[in-house]
Amino acid sequence: MNLNEIKRYSRQLILPDFGTKQQLRLKQAKVAVTGAGGLGCPVSTYLALAGVGEIHLFDFDRVELSNLNRQFLYTPEQQGRLKAEAAAERLMEINPEIKVEAVCEKITYDNAFELLKGYSAIVDGTDNFAVRYAVNDAAAVLRIPLFHGAALMYEGRAMSIIPGETACFRCVFPEPPPAGMVPTCREAGILGSVVGIVGAIQATEAIRYLAGLEIGLKNSLLIINVETMSFDKVRVHRRQECTACGEKFVPKPVDEVCAVATDEQEV
Ligand SMILES: [Zn+2]
Repeated sequence: MNLNEIKRYSRQLILPDFGTKQQLRLKQAKVAVTGAGGLGCPVSTYLALAGVGEIHLFDFDRVELSNLNRQFLYTPEQQGRLKAEAAAERLMEINPEIKVEAVCEKITYDNAFELLKGYSAIVDGTDNFAVRYAVNDAAAVLRIPLFHGAALMYEGRAMSIIPGETACFRCVFPEPPPAGMVPTCREAGILGSVVGIVGAIQATEAIRYLAGLEIGLKNSLLIINVETMSFDKVRVHRRQECTACGEKFVPKPVDEVCAVATDEQEV
């Protein structure tokens, strides 16, 4: 670590259980953040601030004015720009000690297994069932830890998935809900601070995991409701017959029609 890094990370380096060894583990990590929207903004910001050495931001969407109640990495002047590129630039301004790359490609069931190879962890910030299941199945097959998050209206959810150890997203939800059952944020709305809470939780779990510390959302689905400000941890279990992480992998692409329109990927 150089002198700037030691100063920059000094407040976390003095934490109990955290030191140079943990910081170097973060520096050596290469993390994929899928989606540079409402969840992707807080997730990638906190990963960057903590000193995750390499962050790859996956998003093919462009900045719109309606994103700006929650997607704080963007400005009105950046409308029409590719989010992943704008966010990568901003994050490297915030922390010049790390590398952030934009991947402006759409993740599908066909390419996820190839695109997500080689990462230390994946933090999922998509709100599209087709992509979410593709990312889950790829992470399970590639045996990459996955930090799940979702938010809608006044509710949020988070869960940490460690391959071979914990339930995956498909263990808990084997199939996506029927088309039209779950509204999108475009239809139902989303409060910016709610994605902030969920994204910060996902990033915290990923940072602690990458640093080699214990994490709290293994085999647990955290359900947050900000109307009552309740945080409930629901115990979840691995299923041997899970088509993603069970005894036999069975590819199960989720139909995009059943998911949502492309611009809903933003969360
Ligand atoms: Zn599973």
